[in-house]
Amino acid sequence: AKPDFVNYAVVFDKKIHQNVVKRLQLENDLQQAITNNELHLNYQAIVNLKTEQINCLEVLVRWKHPFLGLVSPGKFIPLSEETGLIIPLGQWVLTEACQQLSLWQKQFSHSLPLAISVNVSGIQLSHPELISHIDRLLQNFSLTGKHLKLEITESVLMENPSAVTKVLEQLKQRDIQLCIDDFGTGYSSLNYLRYLPIDTVKIDRCFVSQEGNDKNYDILKAIINLAHSLELNVIAEGIETEAQLQMLRNLGCEYGQGFLLAHPLNSQNVRNLIEEQFGC
Ligand code: C2E
Ligand code: CA
Ligand code: CA
Ligand code: CA
Repeated sequence: AKPDFVNYAVVFDKKIHQNVVKRLQLENDLQQAITNNELHLNYQAIVNLKTEQINCLEVLVRWKHPFLGLVSPGKFIPLSEETGLIIPLGQWVLTEACQQLSLWQKQFSHSLPLAISVNVSGIQLSHPELISHIDRLLQNFSLTGKHLKLEITESVLMENPSAVTKVLEQLKQRDIQLCIDDFGTGYSSLNYLRYLPIDTVKIDRCFVSQEGNDKNYDILKAIINLAHSLELNVIAEGIETEAQLQMLRNLGCEYGQGFLLAHPLNSQNVRNLIEEQFGC
């Protein structure tokens, strides 16, 4: 009989092979996803913790694969970044989201005090056509920069601060608000916070999710106070319990997001939510 390790080696090899094939398949499928209409958007409310009013909607992309069902963006966004597909995908997200907001604006006689917040990856941010694409969208859909916020992760800001700052300043000239996403998880130099033209920090949900933990509480408190001393707004994400909500209110955090307040919803359900809150 063959020694056991030979079989192990074969199994191991096969596994790697299968994973490579799977990845290539997914990559290939993702390329088709836009043209085949397999992508759609969800929107999650960002709520003013004092008034409980919706302030903004975060745009979250969804991919319904014909055989695999829903594939998580945590999986296909990194894949799209590695392959460059994030450029057409990101443009699709921005276009679709602006179109949807302009539709809601029309339905509510252009009186909605509501903005959309779109995640942009570092590759998108350094793409030379990002600004002209956004300008075109705002014009085509009769929106202003005030309707649009962009969420950028901490690590992207720290990788190439001087190049990124130039783009951010161009965005600021258009009144587009800028938010640091997943704040606290990167290796950011706090010093940059003073120089980047940022309006908001969004505290990563890992600091919110264990409210019983003394260290996390101290970090939360420190981030909120630091942000306020720099005149930045604070959003806490991942709020799931009343206790977390209460704690964040007590710490003076102005905005919140999480399953307790609202789940990511499709456009029809968001419309109902808007109707409830803003009337017709
Ligand atoms: P993110 O930007 O940090 O988005 C928040 C994620 O947390 C979303 O996951 C959302 O569904 C989830 N979430 C919201 N509230 C709660 C809560 O109370 N508890 C928990 N446990 N989770 C909550 P989702 O939609 O799976 O997105 C994952 C990530 O994929 C996003 O993280 C973002 O980094 C990325 N992503 C999603 N859409 C886009 C996009 O259009 N463009 C880019 N570049 N990235 C995107
Ligand atoms: Ca985000
Ligand atoms: Ca986040
Ligand atoms: Ca995240």
